Amino acid sequence: MSERKIYRMRLVGGEIVETIAASEAHARAKIARRLAARTAGKALRERRRNQRTGVTVELIDTHHPDSRLDPDGGRWATVCIDHGAVVNHDTLAIARSFLAVPWEFCPDCQETVSATDG
Ligand SMILES: [Zn+2]
Repeated sequence: MSERKIYRMRLVGGEIVETIAASEAHARAKIARRLAARTAGKALRERRRNQRTGVTVELIDTHHPDSRLDPDGGRWATVCIDHGAVVNHDTLAIARSFLAVPWEFCPDCQETVSATDG
């Protein structure tokens, strides 16, 4: 038996989104799916589900008109969708390499990894 509540999350850029879900994890997943649909085929270049931390990581072209991310620090942004952490890179190749290692730029993922490493 789970109680459904309204969860609000602040996105990169300050936008607030809300959803009704049974848990915070469920709310994050719902919002990630909603964001994924919003960016599909646009500024989004690649999306990957990380096996180790269970998060969704996206590669965004910040020069695309649909991107709401800051291009300062590099055109290509790697984003941990579940936690909202963003890191910019100058080259697509470097940004792509970060898709597989969200704990390298996301503090929440880093916590997950160090917790499972014991
Ligand atoms: Zn994360």
